[in-house]
Amino acid sequence: MARLLLSSPTMHEEEMHFVQEAFDTNWIAPLGKNVDSFESEIISYIGGGHAVALSSGTAALHLAVKLCGLKRGDVVFCSDLTFAASVNPVVYEGGVPVFIDAEYDTWNMDPLALERAFQKYPQCRVVIVANLYGTPAKLDEISAICKAHDAILIEDAAESLSSTFRGVQTGTFGKYNALSFNGNKIITTSGGGMLLTNDAAAKDKARFWATQSKDPAPYYQHSEIGYNYRMSNVLAGIGRGQLLHLQEHKAKKCEIYRSYKAGLAGLPLSMNPYLAYSEPNHWLSCVLIDKHCALTPAELIARLDENDMEARHIWKPMHMQPLYANCAFVTVQEAPVSAQIFARGVCLPSDIKMTQQEQVISLIRSMF
Ligand SMILES: *Cc1c(COP(=O)(O)O)cnc(C)c1O
Repeated sequence: MARLLLSSPTMHEEEMHFVQEAFDTNWIAPLGKNVDSFESEIISYIGGGHAVALSSGTAALHLAVKLCGLKRGDVVFCSDLTFAASVNPVVYEGGVPVFIDAEYDTWNMDPLALERAFQKYPQCRVVIVANLYGTPAKLDEISAICKAHDAILIEDAAESLSSTFRGVQTGTFGKYNALSFNGNKIITTSGGGMLLTNDAAAKDKARFWATQSKDPAPYYQHSEIGYNYRMSNVLAGIGRGQLLHLQEHKAKKCEIYRSYKAGLAGLPLSMNPYLAYSEPNHWLSCVLIDKHCALTPAELIARLDENDMEARHIWKPMHMQPLYANCAFVTVQEAPVSAQIFARGVCLPSDIKMTQQEQVISLIRSMF
């Protein structure tokens, strides 16, 4: 049997129709009907606002940070337990990330640590929160803290498209929000992303920057630095086809999570948790090995690997990255939560097309 992957693209028939349409109309370009339609279809799925389809989720985060108008040296509070692409755009814009520890209820930014960070850095005006593995953070508390301190919230919803918090779609809680359609995400355009905002002027500005900042002149004139960040019309066609199956992908991911939870019950490990009033898309199912259990993530990953099953470590926290060794880290715990989750956590195979989940479960059971 072919190697079981962590999370690989799941394609259907419609993607090719939309791609064919781009070929038939010769819109093999950035922009075109698929891009416009993909944006409006995402907006109607999310339930309002404006969208800018981009070449990656990282580009969406970059434009989000740029829209905040950072000055060189400005502090930005960032989730500590996340992928580096959440944070790097802060540095592109000359900002200084300060990492905020995670909590055990959702594995996301801890509101208590965020509050403490504002005591230490009252001048901070931008916060980037990620919804890890598709699980919404404590978005109401985090939004309230940002509001109280007059800071702009950016939601990194790269992993959480279709997750809801108190019935509201993620990707709508920030002033600026980022989605990713990278190959491993819940829906994909092979590579792509989207910036979401309710601010029409911000949307126009992001489109301007993303298309090389061309002044309205009869020739190429530029007053601002620009980027080539727009999504290709061919790839947007893939996205339109994928979006038709987003609910189905989410249902399958949720089923995978439930099967692991039931199948692994009684072992000294626990699934990645979520709040009762949130509905994660369960992009990746993860486990945290109990503190007093001798089994390590590396051993579990190696054992699955020997059986052609791909598992991975949890994202290595940003405050432990060589790149960010000089950045500050704020926690309210003696043992930082993000480091604990990294030390004891594993992402399990969560591929929608997986037929071997029972084998994964028995293999894990056999290790205890
Ligand atoms: C995937 C991801 C990104 C980046 O998206 P790309 O489309 O790969 O650039 C950003 N943040 C998080 C949390 C991600 O998982």
